[in-house]
This record gives sequence, C-alpha cells and structure tokens, in this order.
Amino acid sequence: MPDIRLKAGLFVCLLAGISLFLWLITSATIALIIFAIGLLVYLYIHITWLHQLNAWFKNPNLKSIPEGSGAWQDVFTNLLQYERNNLANQAQLSAAVERFNLTANTMPDGLVILSPSNEIEWCTPHAEKQLGLDLSTDQNLPIVNLIRDSQFIAYLVGKDYSEPFKLKSWQNPEVVFEIRLMPFESKQKLLICRDMTQLEKVDIMRRDFIANVSHELRTPLTVVGGFLETLTDMKGAVPDALKTYFAMMLEQTVRMRRIIEDLLALSTIESNNEAPDDIEINMASLLNTIKNDALNLSHGLKKAKHKVHLEADSNLNLIGGQDELHSAFSNLVSNAIRYTPPPSNGGRGEIFITWQLVNEQPVFTVRDTGIGILQQHIDRLTERFYRVDRGRSRETGGTGLGLSIVKHILIRHQAKLDISSEIGKGSTFSVVFPKARIAQQKVLN
Ligand code: ADP
Repeated sequence: MPDIRLKAGLFVCLLAGISLFLWLITSATIALIIFAIGLLVYLYIHITWLHQLNAWFKNPNLKSIPEGSGAWQDVFTNLLQYERNNLANQAQLSAAVERFNLTANTMPDGLVILSPSNEIEWCTPHAEKQLGLDLSTDQNLPIVNLIRDSQFIAYLVGKDYSEPFKLKSWQNPEVVFEIRLMPFESKQKLLICRDMTQLEKVDIMRRDFIANVSHELRTPLTVVGGFLETLTDMKGAVPDALKTYFAMMLEQTVRMRRIIEDLLALSTIESNNEAPDDIEINMASLLNTIKNDALNLSHGLKKAKHKVHLEADSNLNLIGGQDELHSAFSNLVSNAIRYTPPPSNGGRGEIFITWQLVNEQPVFTVRDTGIGILQQHIDRLTERFYRVDRGRSRETGGTGLGLSIVKHILIRHQAKLDISSEIGKGSTFSVVFPKARIAQQKVLN
C-alpha cells in the first residue's frame, strides 16, 4: 500500500500537471483558478474526513468506523486494526483477571493484599469468612482495626515474617489459623490465611500424648531410682561385683529422668498459648546468676575450670517472662560449657557472654571457644533430639532437647536465634529480641 505522503504528493503533482497543461492551452489565470479550486476541494475532503474521525472518537465502535478514501482509507484501516488488537488484548486481560479471581476464590486459603501502611486493598471471599472481613466496607481500613489480637499486631509491625503466626479465630476459639505474610510488589504485603484447626488438633493430641507418657513414666522412674540409690548407699546390700552395674543403672535412670523433665518442659511451653509474662527483667542480676551457674557447672564437670566473661549493658532491661528466659539463656550457656574443652583438656576454655544493643535491638550472645559445629548441622540443631555428637551429648548429661526448648521460648518472645560456628574454633549463639521488648528507663525525679 503506497505511503500517505506519496498519495498526497501524487495528487498535488496531478493537480499541478493539469494546471500547467491548462496554462499552455488557455491562460495562466485559468490555470491558477483551477489549481486553487483543486486545492480547496482537497482541503474540504480532508476536513470532512477529520470531522468524521472526530465524530467517531466520541462513540468509538468497531462497526461504525468510517471507510475513508484516498489517504484517509489507510488511516481508518490502521485505526480499525488498532481497535481490534485493543479489544483482543482487553478480552485477554479480562479473561486473565477472571481466571485469577476464580483461582483465588477456589483456594481454601484466604488471601488479603495489604498496602504499605497495612490497609486492606483486596481480599478473597475465603479471607472475608475466615477473618470476619467485609471488603465492601473494610477496603482501605487498617487491618489492625479489624484483627485486634495484640500478638498479631506485634507480628505485623515486627517485620520478621520468616515464621508463620498462629491466630485463634475470634468467632470460634476452637478454630486456629496460620497467618503468613509475604512482601508483595514494592511495599505491599500478601497475607495468606490457612485453617489449621485439624492439624492443630493432631498436634495437641501428639503433645498431650508425650506429656501423659512422660508424666506416667516419672513416678515409676523415681521409685526405681530411689531404690537403686538406697541399695547403693546401704553397706553390704550390693555385692562388690555388681556395684559397677548398679552405678550404671543409676546413671541411666538419672538420664531418663532428665529426658522426661525436658519433655515435660517442652510440652508445657509448646502448649502454652498465653503470651509470656510482660515484666521488666533485671538483666544484670539475671546474667550474674547465669554466669555463676555456668561456673558451678564447669566445676562440676570433672573439675573443669572454664573462664566465663560477662559484658552486659546494665541500663538495658528486657520485657518478658523471667523464668522462661532464664531457662533459655542458661541452656545456651550450659551448652557452651559442655561443648568447650577446658584448659585442663588442652582447650582455651573461654566463654564470652554479652548483652547489648545491636542495630537498636537487644541481643544476648554466648560465644565459646569449643569444638564448633559443621555448617550442615546448624539448621537442624533446634529439632527435638538432634545431636551432632550423641556420645558427647550423653557424656555431658545432654538430652537433645535443650535447643528445642530455647527455640519455643524465643518464638513466644518474638525473638530469633542466630547460630554461627567454625569447627575447632568455637560457636556463637545470639538471641535477637525485637526493639519493642526493651524496657523503658524509669526517669528519676
Ligand atoms: P544436648 O542436650 O544434646 O546438648 P541441645 O538441644 O542443647 O541438646 O543441642 C543440640 C546439639 O547441638 C548438641 O547435641 C550439640 O551437638 C550441638 N550444640 C549445641 N550447642 C553447642 C555448642 N555450644 N558447641 C557445639 N555444639 C553444640
């Protein structure tokens, strides 16, 4: 198809040719008049098509698009093509949106899109049902106005979404949802809400079973241990040849008792859905107690003598459950002692405990100069009964449950455990608390 400029050029040349011819056979005046009339007609035709184009734009409809003539035929043909492509793209987009809506509505999980300032932008009917929302009235409202659970609010503003959050339905306390938040586009978030009621029931059954078994075993074990101890202490009651066997039996009962105590402690923490106590903990005093416990443990371990250094910011106190955090910190420090060969055994035997603000967050760190842990084990250390070296764990009175207990206590405090280690050089366990857990300094008058 010739170019529009070519068509216009051809018309002007034809008009000029005719005018020249008339000039030759008649006069210049007649030729100029004919040329001017030709240009006027040409202009009129263009204005007419321009008018038609303008009229069509007011009501763009594929069926009523003008056909045009000359250069305008090309314009209208291209416009028709453009409009057809446009309609096809629109149809494709609508189909994609329709498909997305259908998929989102079919998913059993509820989806909510949150704006950068946590307002509800969009949600699926499932999310409306699960979280008691109504998109028609709640759109653009802050989600914290509608889900008023304080732990959920802390999770949302805490910005650490690596672990999901468990939310009890306010409509039915038996229903438990797992909430996952994912950064979406630039600063928006996608909230995924999954009904975990059935899984939670199975989990509760498992926890109850372990707690019940542990509880049932505790009494007979105490009796057996008690008798073994009495017999061992009674002069002449145990023949010399059997004394080592008795000592071994006693050692094993003590070990089993320790495992049972840890299992009970773990199930108590796991099944505790209440928020931990929110009291101000005097960290300087707590850390001193922990340091002394560590020294006692070190002295008890075959007269080993570790050096324990404590460096704590005495103005930095924490809000949380004192007993739980005492247990978590002690676990980390006792691990550091147990997995660090003392100087008498050729090791450096030094443990460094620090408590300070790092990037505005309170951090408790235990660094040891012990055996270290291979990288491949680090992610699994907090699993129940996961031990890198079973022999060493057992030898030092370990149950394989210490770090699981630590993990659950930290989850309850919205804190996370960072572990780094180098084999033969030592390990560092850091507990990073959210800023919100810093106790405000009391202003003295
Ligand atoms: P355990 O009672 O066996 O110490 P934990 O749950 O406390 O159980 O720790 C799990 C495993 O992690 C331990 O068996 C040990 O292999 C490893 N571990 C924990 N702390 C340290 C540490 N400070 N240095 C080296 N290994 C460690």
